[in-house]
Amino acid sequence: MAEIRDWKLSETNLSRAQQIPYEVAVLPIGATEAHNLHLPYGTDTFQVEAIAERACAAAWEQGAEVLLLPSIPVGINENTLGFPWTLSYKPTTILQMLRDTVGCLEQHRLMKLLVLNGHGGNELKAFLRELFRETKVQMILVDWWTVDPQALQTAFDDPGEHGGEMETSLMLHLRPDLVEMEQADEGEVRKPHFTGMREGWAWVARPWDILTTNSGVGNPAASTAKKGQQFLQRCVDKIAQLIVEMANEPMDDWYPYERD
Ligand SMILES: [Zn+2]
Repeated sequence: MAEIRDWKLSETNLSRAQQIPYEVAVLPIGATEAHNLHLPYGTDTFQVEAIAERACAAAWEQGAEVLLLPSIPVGINENTLGFPWTLSYKPTTILQMLRDTVGCLEQHRLMKLLVLNGHGGNELKAFLRELFRETKVQMILVDWWTVDPQALQTAFDDPGEHGGEMETSLMLHLRPDLVEMEQADEGEVRKPHFTGMREGWAWVARPWDILTTNSGVGNPAASTAKKGQQFLQRCVDKIAQLIVEMANEPMDDWYPYERD
């Protein structure tokens, strides 16, 4: 029988949890949206939960008292609702969820939080600024796929942005039962009409159903489970190290910076 994992809040219980002086909380945030034609709607949530679980387990093994919170399974997808059954929470809703979460953590004197983001549309930096003076909880934000840009480039022929080689490879590793490769289609991505957008300095919340033909951005054809496993492990190792460092750092006026 599987053991109760003390680092996972949804599994542990009061008698176990009250013995442990948890130092770091981890909050995964995913999404529920179409991912090309062949990946599950929960792709971002499956990925961020798997990475969070593995990183927490590894950090716990290294002595970090870490607590994995239940993840937020829906993200900011206002601009992708053109594809059927996609779900979205508005940015202000996510902000309120973060605010409520840090309020609870503060109540329990758990003052270090790692927000682990799994969806590109969840642009959360502004929320950490919004909450900066409201809470004494120290928040660190990581978009998991950014932790090793070099590994991202070497692991894949072309990682792609959405439902492409990187995400498909990860899902072939994590949940091959949910990947229907025969449905996958490279699709097409529409080019912007404005020079500033083509050069990348003029930004728009992209209307996904106009931008893409099948919701995907990137070619999944060269995906393999092995590529996914190797890149995922690299990300897990780096995030586990961050959790260990957060746990070991004294919570004083200098956190998370070097002392004089
Ligand atoms: Zn995704």
